[in-house]
Amino acid sequence: MLEVTPISSFGDNYIWMLSNPGQANVVVVDPGDAAQVLNRLEERDLTLAAILLTHHHYDHTGGVAELLERVPELPVYGPKLEKIPGVNRPVGEGDRVTVDGVDLCFQVFDVPGHTAGHIAYYGEGLLFPGDTLFSAGCGRIFEGTYQQMADALKRLLALPKETLLYSAHEYTLDNIGFAKWVEPENEAIHVREKECRKRRAAGEATLPSTLEDELAVNPFLRLNVPEVVAAAEQFAGRSLTDEVSVFTALRQWKDEKYD
Ligand SMILES: [Zn+2]
Repeated sequence: MLEVTPISSFGDNYIWMLSNPGQANVVVVDPGDAAQVLNRLEERDLTLAAILLTHHHYDHTGGVAELLERVPELPVYGPKLEKIPGVNRPVGEGDRVTVDGVDLCFQVFDVPGHTAGHIAYYGEGLLFPGDTLFSAGCGRIFEGTYQQMADALKRLLALPKETLLYSAHEYTLDNIGFAKWVEPENEAIHVREKECRKRRAAGEATLPSTLEDELAVNPFLRLNVPEVVAAAEQFAGRSLTDEVSVFTALRQWKDEKYD
């Protein structure tokens, strides 16, 4: 069994730390900030056994050089389609990740869109999608195409519905604001908002959610729902006859009018 704990950094990033109960070896996902990770390791007398990276953005990779300095020979997994200094285990679609001293086995998926070589890690019932899928939202498309991002999200959605989602940012409440623009009448969104406000007020992360939770509230995963299609059509000013067109309109609407 894997324990997953958040290390907050840069205000709204999460560096996820993975460990087996009672064991000192840990893995961190997307360590943008080395100091936060080193503090946690010292506090709890833990040993860094590997780093997993989802994409090249600095808020996910900025801590790699310093962590490597502290732990030479540290395995650093990252997308083979991106040039990231420090990555010594480049991985891509179909690869598996195992780590000495930590009981885990993850599959790697290529999920381009936010960046061209973005990958996600899935295993042990957990999904680390980086900046591809957020609770109640999805990443901005910086390097890929709308089609790629829509396909990537569909791919992740095909995983078991009980899969726990550990996105790399605390964006949930902000995303829920946009979800309410799209589907003001969706009761599940209002319920989710209340839960998340409680969690944030208590200083807790709104993650993980499950893919099942996301299917109920995340407009970018609800491209066939009539209310979502109608809202996207209203923004686009024309009828939208396929999922990628609906996805594109939603993403552009959020980028242009909401964020
Ligand atoms: Zn990013």
